[in-house]
Amino acid sequence: MNRYRRCAAAWGLVVRRAEATRLGRLPKGFSVTTPSGTLWGRSVLLCTGTRFKRWSNLDGGEIPVFASAFSQARSFEGRKVAVVGGGESAMHQSLRLAGHAKTVYLIHRGRALRGIELLRRRLAQRPNVRVFPESELFPGTRGTVRVRGRAQDRSLAVSAVFALIGQEPELSLLREGRAPSGVFIAGDARPGTRRQIAAATGDAMRAAMECEEFLSGR
Ligand SMILES: Cc1cc2nc3c(=O)[nH]c(=O)nc-3n(C[C@H](O)[C@H](O)[C@H](O)COP(=O)(O)OP(=O)(O)OC[C@H]3O[C@@H](n4cnc5c(N)ncnc54)[C@H](O)[C@@H]3O)c2cc1C
Repeated sequence: MNRYRRCAAAWGLVVRRAEATRLGRLPKGFSVTTPSGTLWGRSVLLCTGTRFKRWSNLDGGEIPVFASAFSQARSFEGRKVAVVGGGESAMHQSLRLAGHAKTVYLIHRGRALRGIELLRRRLAQRPNVRVFPESELFPGTRGTVRVRGRAQDRSLAVSAVFALIGQEPELSLLREGRAPSGVFIAGDARPGTRRQIAAATGDAMRAAMECEEFLSGR
């Protein structure tokens, strides 16, 4: 990446590390506000990725809720945990947790898990993963959670909950909800993309070329 960055700098790229807090419109372009000053440009390319969808069922309770298991899995060695979500992230991270936790309860609202067959098979092979379809998780009493669904209503004692209910484009800079002419969106931030590194890289190329056409008035 450093070599790539040096190459791009030779073509005029200037990198500033800051959070963009506001995107404003100017008569001939846009302003981008950051804590270290305001920048302006005739065009803006947003590559802001995604944010995890918020899950609030256990807000304010004692049981910790995490949005990712990748860095936490080892901390739950031999303990019981719950995963909420029925997509590929939930399946993938349940498998990761199953390598450490005593029991993983996978709770999802749908009838079937939405993920590739290989993940489904691997989950079915794990004796310490219990799947609760058509169910939701709610606060229970005294450090427990309650699984409610068509087929069950029961309490579970868990040390943590991993809420993996999906991601959504991080487009909070677009206050009108859509990109005005001159603002381009690329990568995971663009609704409907495949959310893979190769797809995001290719999409950035497409957006950069559209941006260049816009700037040169073609
Ligand atoms: C857990 C997980 C596992 C994945 N595994 C794979 C995999 O195995 N293979 C694969 O191909 N893809 C994988 N992906 C998807 C891959 O990470 C994305 O497709 C890719 O990173 C998208 O690149 P991007 O540049 O569009 O967005 P991102 O990589 O998300 O980058 C967005 C950047 O914008 C920054 N940003 C957001 N808002 C602002 C702001 N207001 N101001 C300043 N900066 C801001 C963020 O901090 C972030 O650095 C995975 C994703 C996740 C979450």
